[in-house]
Amino acid sequence: MANYDYDLFVIGAGSGGVRAARMAALSGARVGVAEEHRVGGTCVIRGCVPKKFMVYASEFSQAFKAAEGFGWTVGERSFDWPKFIEMKDVEIARLSGIYVTNLKNAGADIAHSRAVLKDAHTVDLTDDKATLTADKILIATGGRPSMPELPGIEHAITSNEAFHLPQLPRRVLVVGGGYIAVEFAGIFNGLGSEVTLLYRGPNILRGFDDDVRSHLAGELERRGIKVILGCEHASIEKTETGLVSHLNSGHDHETDVVMFATGREPYTAGLGLDKAGVKLNDRGAVIVDAYSKTNIDNIWAVGDVTDRINLTPVAIREGAAFAATEFGDTPTTFDHDMVASAVFSQPPIGSVGMTEADARHQHGKIDIYKAIFRPMKMTFYGGEERTLMKLVVDAATQKVLGCHVVGPDSPEMIQMAAIAIKMGVTKQQWDSTCAVHPTAAEELVTMREKYVPPNIGGMG
Ligand code: NDP
Repeated sequence: MANYDYDLFVIGAGSGGVRAARMAALSGARVGVAEEHRVGGTCVIRGCVPKKFMVYASEFSQAFKAAEGFGWTVGERSFDWPKFIEMKDVEIARLSGIYVTNLKNAGADIAHSRAVLKDAHTVDLTDDKATLTADKILIATGGRPSMPELPGIEHAITSNEAFHLPQLPRRVLVVGGGYIAVEFAGIFNGLGSEVTLLYRGPNILRGFDDDVRSHLAGELERRGIKVILGCEHASIEKTETGLVSHLNSGHDHETDVVMFATGREPYTAGLGLDKAGVKLNDRGAVIVDAYSKTNIDNIWAVGDVTDRINLTPVAIREGAAFAATEFGDTPTTFDHDMVASAVFSQPPIGSVGMTEADARHQHGKIDIYKAIFRPMKMTFYGGEERTLMKLVVDAATQKVLGCHVVGPDSPEMIQMAAIAIKMGVTKQQWDSTCAVHPTAAEELVTMREKYVPPNIGGMG
């Protein structure tokens, strides 16, 4: 066997790369990791974690309203954006430090450098001006925001920059209708900015259940976000008073910040994957098999760079499965079916399994159970927000195929629902679970009446 510097070299110290590196190192392998930015990757540095802090910060505006409704006198309030950003950065630095410590404690070497493949076993550390060799290589470089090319796009920002704005913008135009767009629209709105959400399609959150999409769009508008659908940018112009978005509808929209949340692309450019012979798909994602192995025998890839399900816990499980297979003598694949996800919009969404449309397409006859209600806390102080709960059930087998919730705490609820649904729970078993009272979640186990759409009511 050739004599390599490392048994495993991991390119990218995000969620997937760090998990794989730690597990391999703890099994006794000689492991090196390269990270060109900061250890922790998108999730810790400029994604899930700082985003959640921003959501927490922005939720206080609703909490103050609710507090008044419950008899509190809430005095003058203001939000200090620079102070919040500073505190957020301290916490992110702490978490990134923990990742570094964990890697080191496991025995892995960390190179703070960009890494480029020279061939299937050789890596150039371009910042460190060093070259090393490895028996096995794991690509875990994640993704990058992508923006369409249009005149004036250089005036727009992405979520990367949104975490470091010097001031809270008075007016924000968020472009896109996916996870990041609805989450940041809610964040800026909650913090007091005037927010417009601009989406090119007929309804936000394509891919989610249609009831969820409509319900959330309505709730965003109820909270004061202006949602413009079926519309795209022609160009962006910088003026003395801000930015003007020229829209293809012929309208102009003046704002202070234009944030594009128009998807993310696998970060494979300039990595030298061609030199190693690694095949990419037409979106630039590394093509892998169920074991996350590429077409090259000693190279694997996990996480967003493979563009399978682009979520942190999925990257972690893919990284862990790779390490168990290659360094733990336990061939392991990650099952990408029934992965629950949460959108931290305000109100948030928890979703697992099939949408109604997908279930009808795949199973033919299905039963729908649906509840829309004002949460108890809202009714007390006259809040108008509604929670939506929906179950999609296979009519023939009575298996629960999907569960979708829009409302407070739905991300917490969906984790539990996912366990039962992944185990193949039937509606009868689901209903035999006694309610927890008084909660919103109890509604999930007390939906007995099949939903009949109004237009076919009375026909059967
Ligand atoms: P998404 O793929 O979720 O959404 C992208 C949005 O941008 C879609 O609405 C899409 O429209 C629109 N879009 C794409 N291209 C253009 C264009 N050229 N012009 C106008 N609109 C365009 O991507 P995000 O950036 O929101 O998030 C990336 C991924 O990160 C998510 O898919 C998710 O996997 C992950 N993520 C997860 C989070 C969570 O778990 N809570 C939070 C944030 C991100 P259309 O629908 O018409 O294609």
